[in-house]
Amino acid sequence: MRQTQPALSCQDVTMRFGGLVALDSFSLEVHPGDVVGLLGPNGSGKTTFFNVVTGLYKPAAGTIRFGGTDLFGKPPAEINRAGIARSFQRCRLLLELSVFDNLLIGAHNRLNNGLLHNLFARKAAQHSITSFIGAARDLCARFNPYIADHLFDPAGAFNMIDRRRIELCRALLGEPRLLLLDEPSAGMTHEETFSLMDDVTSFQRQNPDLSIILIEHEMQVIERVSQRCVVLNFGKKICEGSYREVIADPQVLEAYLGE
Ligand code: ADP
Repeated sequence: MRQTQPALSCQDVTMRFGGLVALDSFSLEVHPGDVVGLLGPNGSGKTTFFNVVTGLYKPAAGTIRFGGTDLFGKPPAEINRAGIARSFQRCRLLLELSVFDNLLIGAHNRLNNGLLHNLFARKAAQHSITSFIGAARDLCARFNPYIADHLFDPAGAFNMIDRRRIELCRALLGEPRLLLLDEPSAGMTHEETFSLMDDVTSFQRQNPDLSIILIEHEMQVIERVSQRCVVLNFGKKICEGSYREVIADPQVLEAYLGE
């Protein structure tokens, strides 16, 4: 029996697009420190679940609680402030802006004074900007010291894996308690993906209460990092267990073969 209260508790979440049921009474509990692999064939509802948890989509039914707080139907900014951050499948950096500006844009929601205040009311915001630069540099250095040393270079000057690291730093700067990773392997080689996931794993070891839900089609990545896997098909949970358990499950095999 788990002693800890779940960080995220979703019960019977249903999301419809017209007649299509993208999530069908889906329930998931994630405890502090869990790393959960979210699997399923294309179109099974994985990204929809991330969009629901982060407030981009409002589900038709269900409950979503995070750290005991009801987040159902709350706007994305409020959910982010509550401690849920995500990365996207496609790189979302503004490549012509500096690493620092990209981090600042991502973090504005968590800064006390707001983005515009920080950018324009410079005197009043000097203290928060200075401490933000320090925090950004420290965090980037944990992923790659080169990024920390080139904080004011354009994001477009970095290779793909470093761009991914910058995106991760942007998500992590707000000190989330739950990180949603959507296909971190997209656009990267096997080696780069493993290296990035090793970075994530070692960050999580130093921050053991951070929970992670990972969508990833590279099964080796799932096997390497997830403690538990949940498999969706047509919006329904069809299996939950260790990586070994789910890949041997007949329903899972059938779902993937039917793709
Ligand atoms: P996955 O991430 O597992 O590939 P998705 O969550 O993206 O699957 O999609 C689940 C289902 O919901 C698919 O049939 C998809 O076409 C549909 N869907 C997702 N987002 C929308 C949307 N904004 N409008 C209409 N249908 C959508």
